Amino acid sequence: MSKEDYEMVMGLEVHAELSTKTKIFCSCPTEFGGEPNTHTCPVCMAMPGTLPVLNEKVVEYAVKAGLATSCEIARDSKNDRKNYFYPDLPKSYQISQFDKPLCEHGYVEIEDDEGNPKKIRLTRIHIEEDAGKLNHNEFGGGSLVDLNRAGVPLIEIVSEPDLRSSGEAERYLKKLKSILEYIEVSDCKMQEGSLRADVNVSVRKKGETKLGTRTEMKNMNSFKAITRAIEYEADRQIDVIEDGGKIDQETLRWDDVSGRTFSMRDKEDAQDYRYFPDPDLVAIKLSEEYIENIRRELPELPESRKARYMQEFKLSEKDSRLLTASKYLSNMFEEAESICNNAKSVANWLLSDISRILNEKEMEPENIPFTGKDLAKVVELIDKGTISSAIAKKVVEELFENPKDPEEIIKEKGWIQISDEGAIKKVVMKILENNPQSIADYKAGKDRALGFLVGQAMKETKGKANPQMLNKMFLEELKK
Ligand code: ADP
Ligand code: ZN
Ligand code: MG
Repeated sequence: MSKEDYEMVMGLEVHAELSTKTKIFCSCPTEFGGEPNTHTCPVCMAMPGTLPVLNEKVVEYAVKAGLATSCEIARDSKNDRKNYFYPDLPKSYQISQFDKPLCEHGYVEIEDDEGNPKKIRLTRIHIEEDAGKLNHNEFGGGSLVDLNRAGVPLIEIVSEPDLRSSGEAERYLKKLKSILEYIEVSDCKMQEGSLRADVNVSVRKKGETKLGTRTEMKNMNSFKAITRAIEYEADRQIDVIEDGGKIDQETLRWDDVSGRTFSMRDKEDAQDYRYFPDPDLVAIKLSEEYIENIRRELPELPESRKARYMQEFKLSEKDSRLLTASKYLSNMFEEAESICNNAKSVANWLLSDISRILNEKEMEPENIPFTGKDLAKVVELIDKGTISSAIAKKVVEELFENPKDPEEIIKEKGWIQISDEGAIKKVVMKILENNPQSIADYKAGKDRALGFLVGQAMKETKGKANPQMLNKMFLEELKK
């Protein structure tokens, strides 16, 4: 059998740090970074005799995430202790949720590899606390514990094993990220670890209904690494099975440099977490009214925004999807559109030149250094004929380097379009004089010669001449 006879199966456990101001069980700040152990207090340092108090905002944010992903919200929920020892976990247990998570049975809609809509089911979303960090000391040996992150609130979003390709896994994670950004419960900065995924992978023969044995890669925080890791791991598993071997259920570490997975520990001797309800915390009881209030205040989500763009701005399904995939891109679109009233053009700039530059610079839309107002200005300058779209491209590039009023940019650089008849005529005459062969070609029926002449005139004026006027005037002269 070959690779094509197998199917990949994946389920993701996604951890998102919530952007509440304070930690989940104390009033320390959740802010990223800071000198080691400065965002700490006796509670998050696990001093004996301290008591945790649940931060209400954490529940609110988790419920928001649950409602935005069509989950059922539990009226009756609780916190449990998950017991294990690790140096970055000073209590020797993590406060999490075991059998009564806040949210269950939701879904996130993505596109499958054929572009058809597909629902990825969510098993649950629960709240828990993050652990601290170990800083391994390369020089002095040993490791230093930093508890700034200990007690930062997390939601864990567990999917059913519904994903069937690395592409689906990537789109699922992107969609989830986008939803969390829209509802403003997490900043989802993957480089800072505020969004990370445990990726569970198995393979099975096509047509088989039983799931294969899975392996798990923990704490992945880049889309590229996740895609590579899934592809590698599925191939590895197929090879093992094809060689007559068996997959061990184990936790693996993906090494991005060597492009391989390594075994970390066996599930066989995985510890029993001895979950039990945390006796220091009261049960979480949510009223109907509380949940409905949150539901009512949910902002517009990517799916409905997409539908609105198709309706209101007559944009294509694809453009609407691409624009709304990022809250930042789509907010910029709306800001610019409201000023210049040219949705098509704004969408085009965002999805072509601006997206290309973002890609090249490996930047996220939220880091675009200029505003929707600036983009609206560019579109207006084209619409008024002040600049050509060739110049506009240069203005957009300049906006990334030195963001300022586009009008100032074109003044400073002398990029204003030449629309003055006399000036255009002068250029046309000069180009004609220098290219007698093209005149002869045109007269001999080679229409392409006109394009060449216009091109030369554009070059002569560094892209500043009004192309419609050039065309018209060349034609007039050639027909003489
Ligand atoms: P644990 O918490 O021990 O990792 P779970 O049963 O909660 O185990 O499963 C965690 C994740 O693994 C879920 O996202 C689930 O969809 C996924 N998963 C479970 N079985 C498989 C499998 N055979 N292949 C791929 N993913 C799986
Ligand atoms: Zn604290
Ligand atoms: Mg797991």
